[in-house]
Amino acid sequence: MSGSLIIAGLGPGDEAMVTPEVTAALAEATDVVGYIPYVARVAPRAGLTLHPSDNRVEMDRARAALAMAAAGRRVVIVSSGDPGVFAMASAVFEAMEGMTEWHGLDVRVLPGITAMLAAAAAGAPLGHDFCCINLSDNLKPWAVIEARLRHAAQADFAMAFYNPRSASRPDTFAKALDVLRDACGPDRLILFARAVSTPDAALRTVTLAEATPEMADMRTVVIVGNSATRRVGRWVYTPRRAV
Ligand code: SAH
Repeated sequence: MSGSLIIAGLGPGDEAMVTPEVTAALAEATDVVGYIPYVARVAPRAGLTLHPSDNRVEMDRARAALAMAAAGRRVVIVSSGDPGVFAMASAVFEAMEGMTEWHGLDVRVLPGITAMLAAAAAGAPLGHDFCCINLSDNLKPWAVIEARLRHAAQADFAMAFYNPRSASRPDTFAKALDVLRDACGPDRLILFARAVSTPDAALRTVTLAEATPEMADMRTVVIVGNSATRRVGRWVYTPRRAV
């Protein structure tokens, strides 16, 4: 049997947002690897071994998956959303660097609907140029995050923020809001989209002046509009042209 490694995105939560090619890859898999809550979304069946692992062990998980594929298994690594957005695809290629014996493996990335796009379906807040920033300071210093926030605001990008707030760094998001209020002014619209496409889904749009750190948690993706982003009825949209 020749092995393979598929790095798949499960989408934001709703089964209807799992792509057919990801469903087909899971049906063929001998092994599914990933962070515990993502592996829990895969139904157990005969012939399939599930390998849930803890957060923050991405490199160990990537190497274990590559080793299983090299041994002939059909391995699927699952991420939520899209596997290329702050997720496992980069970790797998990082693990392959310098390991030329793995370069001949059948490794494929199957995209998924990322949280930002599922959240943006609350209208069209990302309808013009935008950027996407991970607010976690696990893998980069706060100074880099602050510089990127200021540059993005200065360029008048709409912005989407992943990992806005966690118990281990309760103050980062408060600092990010201060930077954004300073750079964008108090009237800029900000969307808090929590657990999008799940039964716990909650969406809230306020101004930066009204925004508080508690409006976000680790299940929230946050979108800040550009200077032209506005409300139309119950929706929020960003015009397609810059003035
Ligand atoms: N690869 C994932 C992102 C992983 S980082 C993707 O493409 O969506 C984890 C962060 O994603 C969370 O802290 C949160 O900011 C965001 N996120 C993931 N699923 C979400 C959902 N259903 N609703 C809102 N935000 C979500």
